Amino acid sequence: MSLLITNIGELVTNAPRDAVSVAVPGPFEAMANAAIVVDGGLVAWTGPAAAAPAADEMVDAAGRAVLPGFVDSHAHLVFAGERGAEFAARMAGLPYSAGGIRSTVAATRAAGDDVLRSNLSRLAGEMLAQGTTTFECKSGYGLTVADEARSVALAGEFTDEVTYLGAHVVPPEFDGRATAYVDLVCGEMLAACAPWTKWVDVFCERGAFGPDEARAVLAAGAAAGLQPRIHANQLGPGPGVQVAVEAGAAAADHCTFLSDADVDALAASGRTVATLLPGVEFSTRSPYPDARRLLAAGVTVAIASDCNPGSCFTSSMAFCIALAVREMRMTTAEAVWAATAGGTRALRRTDVGHLGIGARADLVMLNGPSHAYLAYRPGVPLIAGVWRSGRRAA
Ligand SMILES: [Zn+2]
Repeated sequence: MSLLITNIGELVTNAPRDAVSVAVPGPFEAMANAAIVVDGGLVAWTGPAAAAPAADEMVDAAGRAVLPGFVDSHAHLVFAGERGAEFAARMAGLPYSAGGIRSTVAATRAAGDDVLRSNLSRLAGEMLAQGTTTFECKSGYGLTVADEARSVALAGEFTDEVTYLGAHVVPPEFDGRATAYVDLVCGEMLAACAPWTKWVDVFCERGAFGPDEARAVLAAGAAAGLQPRIHANQLGPGPGVQVAVEAGAAAADHCTFLSDADVDALAASGRTVATLLPGVEFSTRSPYPDARRLLAAGVTVAIASDCNPGSCFTSSMAFCIALAVREMRMTTAEAVWAATAGGTRALRRTDVGHLGIGARADLVMLNGPSHAYLAYRPGVPLIAGVWRSGRRAA
């Protein structure tokens, strides 16, 4: 069954207008008064509504905007419990530190698989309803061999983009024995998780893991066939970005505190995306990353949610786009590109995040005539429809 969506006020494609077939996302591109045809789950045609071919089924967008589905390249969804009280305390003046992760670790270890699965299912559904059609999901709240292995296995029930984050924090039973824990992460725990996992990640930060430990974790992951990504430079200046570039990581995530050398290294790498997670700065009342500095240097920027129960419990990419525009001074086009094609680059994918011919037909229709509404009308339910692989999903 082919599907024609016509009378689209603005169709954001992230693909060159005259391309016959596009294998990768291009720069931000949009056309007015457009239509799109989907066939076999893929984009088959885009162009002016007046020139649209017929299809088996037709949807009238009535002037609404249509965008590629959001690609959320950073989320922690395998956990139990919640930390609303910690958030309230933080808003009352207590600082955020990496140590709060331990309370979620305790709740996650105590939870049955059914509890973790239903929580994950609820959050994945919440994301889809808000237009996120591809998401990455990390382990990292189990921190034992068995609990990390079940975390990645459960994540794999909901997404192909599964990340092993055994190196999230040192769990309490390894207090004072961080080296022994890193050995476990690089050894038995990695072996148990690798079959379910595409990515290896490490929280390289004061209070979590240092640069040598991060290098060891990424190298062990690479030796097991996993691709590297990293949590870097979130809470203060540090070596994380340099470690990411050295390791050829797909992405360095957070990038809140960067030196000139860090920005230069990201720009020169040509392959390590800077993923900004402005929901975290919002939720921890911290300074936002300097997106303009990264963009000016030619760094590829992605925006993701970092949805997790501690530092940022939003799953809304629209909210993150609004923050990127309002607080980080990205243009609406830059922010939407970063939340779609940018996320695709950060996941080293080519099939999503754009609507070039042959791309997966993951679409979001907005209750508004342009992509700018995502920032112009923050906090408003803007999603009129979601299609994944050409099928209506929400
Ligand atoms: Zn994170």
